[in-house]
Amino acid sequence: MSVLLNKVAIITGASSGIGHASAQLFAAQGARLVVGARRQAELDRLVAQIGQAGGEAVALAGDVQDEAYAQALVELATERFGGLDVAFNNAGSLGPMGPTPEVALAAWNEALSTNLSSAFLGAKYQIPAMLKRGGGSLIFTSSFVGYSVGFPGLAAYAASKAGLIGLTQALAAELGPKGIRVNALLPGGTDTPMGRAFANTPESLAYIQNLYALKRLARAEEIAQSALYLAGAASSFTTGSALFVDGGVS
Ligand code: NDP
Repeated sequence: MSVLLNKVAIITGASSGIGHASAQLFAAQGARLVVGARRQAELDRLVAQIGQAGGEAVALAGDVQDEAYAQALVELATERFGGLDVAFNNAGSLGPMGPTPEVALAAWNEALSTNLSSAFLGAKYQIPAMLKRGGGSLIFTSSFVGYSVGFPGLAAYAASKAGLIGLTQALAAELGPKGIRVNALLPGGTDTPMGRAFANTPESLAYIQNLYALKRLARAEEIAQSALYLAGAASSFTTGSALFVDGGVS
């Protein structure tokens, strides 16, 4: 069964990791996709892969900090595919790592802008398009960092990811009566370029893996399955939730 048959979805952060795996999965489940990230060549490769597998996707490269880009993604979904049903606002970056007194305000602001304000900007343009369809599913990629565990030297990242949970709850209350569900996905450490940048020594990898009951990093495909759940009708009574997909953080 195709879980997202006839659905139109935007996925940001699709050039790599969780977003890339989700794009392949959503397309295989029948969604028509607009995929975004800054790296055009990676997006072009993804679109070609999806096409070869019988799916449908178009790419638009840009920076999620840019309001015009948020608007353009929605316009492309509407022009090319007739509307918007699902938005997986997944792009993110680690931001400044290190002792907080050494973090420049500009680096802090950029992390908040990339991880949190981008979600607001995405939602700002995605919501009106979903309302035209009578509903939809908004998903934000938060993290176990900022909710379950505090890591030294990751203040901006943690604050931005915690902020996404507040955004999720407020939007769920605002949009539930209008048929739009809004949920946050909280992956644990995942084997992607970002996950590997964080766990960048054998010691830090062992430390991170040991945090989880399952004693390993997630695969991007495992997180994608949870995004698919939140996107589709299987989660029709789930909104305002924080879905932990973290291997059992202890
Ligand atoms: P990757 O580094 O593999 O992917 C990050 C994606 O975000 C890339 O596609 C990147 O594309 C895109 N991106 C980053 N900054 C911008 C920007 N300014 N504008 C547009 N796109 C941008 O990491 P993951 O797949 O692991 O990360 C996906 C999400 O999951 C992130 O929000 C991350 O915080 C979250 N997460 C990851 C965890 C992990 O352990 N890996 C754990 C918990 C949450 P490009 O460089 O082409 O712009």
